[in-house]
Amino acid sequence: MIGKTPIHVPELFGSMVFNEPVMQEWLPEETYLALKQTMAEGLPLDLSVANVVATAMKDWALTKGATHYTHWFQPMTGVTAEKHESFITPDGSGRVIMEFSGKELIKGEPDASSFPSGGLRATFEARGYTAWDPTSYAFVRGHSLYIPTAFCSHGGEALDNKTPLLRSMEAINTQALRILRLFGNDATRVTVTVGPEQEYFLVDRKYYYSRKDLTYTGRTLFGAPPPKGQELDDHYYGFIKTRVSAYMKELDEALWALGILAKTEHNEGAPGQHELAPLFTTANVSVDHNQLTMEIMRKMAKQHDLACLLHEKPFAGINGSGKHVNWSIATTDGVNLLEPGSSPSQNAQFLLFIAAVMQAVDAHQDLLRISAASASNDQRLGGYEAPPAIVSMFIGDELEAIFEAIEHRKHYDPQHPGELYVGVDALPGIPRDVTDRNRTSPLAFTGNKFEFRMPGSSQSAAGPVTVFNTIVADSLAQFADQLEAADDFSAALNALLRQTIQAHRRILFSGNGYDAAWIQEAAQRGLMHLPTAADAIPHLTTPKNIALFERHGVFSKTELYARQEILLENYCKTLRIEAATMVEMVLRDILPAVMDYGKDLADTIVAKTGVSAEFACRAERALLLKISILTDTTYEQVTALKNTISAGVALDSYGSPATARHFNTVVLPAMAALRQTVDTLETLVSKACWPYPSYGKLIYLH
Ligand code: ADP
Ligand code: MG
Repeated sequence: MIGKTPIHVPELFGSMVFNEPVMQEWLPEETYLALKQTMAEGLPLDLSVANVVATAMKDWALTKGATHYTHWFQPMTGVTAEKHESFITPDGSGRVIMEFSGKELIKGEPDASSFPSGGLRATFEARGYTAWDPTSYAFVRGHSLYIPTAFCSHGGEALDNKTPLLRSMEAINTQALRILRLFGNDATRVTVTVGPEQEYFLVDRKYYYSRKDLTYTGRTLFGAPPPKGQELDDHYYGFIKTRVSAYMKELDEALWALGILAKTEHNEGAPGQHELAPLFTTANVSVDHNQLTMEIMRKMAKQHDLACLLHEKPFAGINGSGKHVNWSIATTDGVNLLEPGSSPSQNAQFLLFIAAVMQAVDAHQDLLRISAASASNDQRLGGYEAPPAIVSMFIGDELEAIFEAIEHRKHYDPQHPGELYVGVDALPGIPRDVTDRNRTSPLAFTGNKFEFRMPGSSQSAAGPVTVFNTIVADSLAQFADQLEAADDFSAALNALLRQTIQAHRRILFSGNGYDAAWIQEAAQRGLMHLPTAADAIPHLTTPKNIALFERHGVFSKTELYARQEILLENYCKTLRIEAATMVEMVLRDILPAVMDYGKDLADTIVAKTGVSAEFACRAERALLLKISILTDTTYEQVTALKNTISAGVALDSYGSPATARHFNTVVLPAMAALRQTVDTLETLVSKACWPYPSYGKLIYLH
């Protein structure tokens, strides 16, 4: 660019991160090796080592302008939390030195009382503690050194999204290694890799602030559809694009400095909608990076007079935003276990992993559904633009044909007639599927990874990944139990594959997931349909799910009940805020504006007919009549909505399934009815009198 020094990306990348090269430079060799071992094996760090690491981290951070440090954690609010402490320590002579100890690095004690705990606080101390996660690098942002941590109660209960994620990574490591051993693979560790594609909207900041619904709830609660909606408008290119690309450029630079592998940025289908995809990395790091990305997206927007909307459905009638969570498992030397291999044995192992996922998805449809369940994602799922609320799986024609051949003891390759016998047979190389990807599937195998498309744009990726890890670990454990006990490995493997495919093939669906007919077909197949979060969340604590999570040490029963309560509470509170915002907008802004407009019409009629009876004022009278009727209906509906909120509040605690049901079946329909009337009014009154910027203004950024 003219007049600007071009940035040197390799130099910028990771420049604010205490990463491998920095550690090597700043740590004595033995400390570096001890830390590396801790990172690789998840061992506790010796305090004397921690002291050396802390001092080096602090010294490095000072060179980056840091004066403070913070333990950075992910409470169950979905966003991150931080509490900054400065490095200053009095030296006894009235001056200060900058200090940071190993103890401060390893453990922090934030007051846990204002974070959601789902009742865990009632039984345990209010205080929680944060513990350093050395597998995710520390970094400097602003004036602080950020230390990624897990957040637990003093009794050890997880109060965050990271602790269960790390536990689930351990579970899958343990079980996948058992399977690899059976195939003679001596890998020492299996890690989960994740790449989350993040969708978002950008709107003009001044319009954002002038809409109470956007500022309070993140989505528009009213808004008549613009004459031109989903289709791309000519305005969409040109000047608008410049403004957006300036934003994207700065966003990339900020993310790169933090070592975040922001790779792909593009415009999405809907006007004003965009996507950012990073390169995949280890699951916990990827989740941390995604949290940071969302935060920086919001902040960066402010500097460009924009507002970044991460809500799943900011605008009715226009595509919503998801977070496609791409998932795979790999050995530490980087071998992707979901990559078809080049030998029959490798392919047998590959097919076993795919079968494990298939069994996991079918057996735990409820958990995958819950992992994407929120009031805001309910606005998006099943809307013919996002997967339905029914979990199914797409594996492509090629793999399906192989599975069918295994199941029915048929031959797969015409070149090699005879029964397909996995592991021994010269199973032909499994080619990459060339069929067009099924983009309507909630969970698609895309060549060497699974893409889970149900999660919403605003949620943490930790929940879906934790569920995925745990359910797959459970399948692998069952497989390993059977295979380890077998005398004839090959025979047992083939029998196991056949049984698994037979038992779980109903979960495979390659048709159009947006088609209404799929709902019926899925019901015939016996698949679960949990249309809303209120339907889904109470399944979290079924005996099956408690046993599953306890078996793999991911959640205790107490922790699961706490999660369920928090999820339901969140659901009810979100809807209560939305409903209350609608009431406020209608009573304080919309009705007064519409009534004024009606009065103007009435005044016009009186004035005109006073001048001459020849003025029939047919238009004014017809409009006034329509508006008056709709105004009355609006008033009735807003009163009814107010009553439904009070009834919900009176019912029970927000964390109970009954209250969630009330918000779902009583409050939401009352909101929808009110919205319909108000949106009609918007199309009838003058633009000048309407108190909020229209959809057209919001969506078509200029
Ligand atoms: P799409 O066509 O859906 O955009 P991409 O190939 O661009 O697909 O990948 C989308 C995301 O999947 C990226 O974040 C990418 O890094 C991630 N991804 C690719 N391979 C893996 C893998 N083995 N494990 C996890 N995520 C992966
Ligand atoms: Mg994708």
